[in-house]
Amino acid sequence: NAQQGSPASRETAPLTPVLTRRWLSPESWTLSTYEQLEGYTALRTALRADPDQLVELVKSAGLRGRGGAGFPAGVKWGFMPKEPSKPHYLVINADEGEPGTCKDVPLMMADPHSLIEGCIIASYAMRANHCMIYVRGEALHCVRRLHHAVREAYDAGYLGTNVLGSGFDLDIVVHAGAGAYICGEETALLDSLEGKRGQPRLKPPFPAQAGLYSCPTTVNNVETIASVPYIVNGGSDWFRAMGREKSPGPKIYSISGHVENPGQYEAPLGTTLRELLELAGGMKDGIPLKFWTPGGSSTPLFTADHLDVPLDFEGATEAGSMLGTTALMIFNETVSVPWAVMKWTQFYEHESCGKCTPCREGCFWLAQVLERMVDGRGTEEDIDTLLDVCDNILGRSFCALGDGAVSPITSGIKYFREEFLALCDRNEGARGTQDERDDK
Ligand code: NAD
Ligand code: SF4
Repeated sequence: NAQQGSPASRETAPLTPVLTRRWLSPESWTLSTYEQLEGYTALRTALRADPDQLVELVKSAGLRGRGGAGFPAGVKWGFMPKEPSKPHYLVINADEGEPGTCKDVPLMMADPHSLIEGCIIASYAMRANHCMIYVRGEALHCVRRLHHAVREAYDAGYLGTNVLGSGFDLDIVVHAGAGAYICGEETALLDSLEGKRGQPRLKPPFPAQAGLYSCPTTVNNVETIASVPYIVNGGSDWFRAMGREKSPGPKIYSISGHVENPGQYEAPLGTTLRELLELAGGMKDGIPLKFWTPGGSSTPLFTADHLDVPLDFEGATEAGSMLGTTALMIFNETVSVPWAVMKWTQFYEHESCGKCTPCREGCFWLAQVLERMVDGRGTEEDIDTLLDVCDNILGRSFCALGDGAVSPITSGIKYFREEFLALCDRNEGARGTQDERDDK
């Protein structure tokens, strides 16, 4: 059901139900439903292929990491040694924590076997006999669903020793994290899996050289790995026919906030917010759009002027932001930008792991200054202070969390400086929506 075409050539917004195609089937999460709808057919094909052919297939499909960074998945798989001298690991990053992001948990709830089938194919391709799925601790319902699905897969012979008589062995362990945002950073996740406090490691070495227990490891996002069975069945040309040349394939966009029908919408990479809003029923109650995030709060804000930006890795970057996790948080005209920015900054202050000074100290002071401003006790100098602190965090932090923390502040001031200034002039503070301000 894939549809093609560049955003400019389309008249209506397309949906490409690939990863989401089974979500509305009765008991979509069970093995029997999955098998009735072509489930585990890709695995049978893959086990007949040479592992290196599968790596080449994923490379030629151009599948890019769906966790936010967009690193080419096949290239990452290719970093794994060909002749194992140590155990190889595949680790699935299911610690979905970026504010506004809600694609991996729905995928695992609705269609856990697509992830498991992807894990088996990817493990076979990378000669890994152990796979860990690291799930965000708060998503206990998801942990339970995965446990059940993994058990079904063992009982059916898709996991364990001699998978489907191929001679390939694979064990999958589902691990529940404890809900720390930093454990979504791949090396902090590995430390957490090893039983340590989750804090980022210095890179290089990258995980393919020294990952889990210092062994060759690939860390991939849920949506990335769940895409693999479809690529094996459909081929790289089919996959490349969706999306854009450098960002091919379909993508699950999670849309939240002031829209009529929030939820997950699967469409080709490169789809615009204007098209996605159409799919989501438009702005709630017809109140105009004011600002939005293309990929969670760690990506610089966009405004109503960015409705036609193609939402793919290149398009979002060229327009001054990043694609990130395609978490589109939509805010209408009633929302105060400084208030929203303060809420996000409080989140980063709370989640900063404390390992490096720019982020640990900087996020604390950013939150202090923003709280003062939103409370109506700010001065014009505070805007310069905010930008100065951001400048000392950006590019000077140990991991991407620090860079992400400054994105809403610098972009918020760039597009809505007068709102920050108004707080200083009027000394009256700001709350989230017009109603809340009226209550005050
Ligand atoms: P990154 O660009 O440093 O790395 C991306 C991946 O490519 C990693 O797996 C890394 O090991 C690999 N890689 C990069 N360069 C490599 C090299 N030279 N050799 C071998 N491997 C290499 O990005 P990151 O810090 O892993 O992730 C940042 C992104 O995470 C942000 O863009 C943000 O959108 C996203 N994010 C997602 C969530 C979520 O909930 N999904 C939460 C927070 C942040
Ligand atoms: Fe920890 Fe923040 Fe430094 Fe990352 S940037 S290592 S989260 S203190």
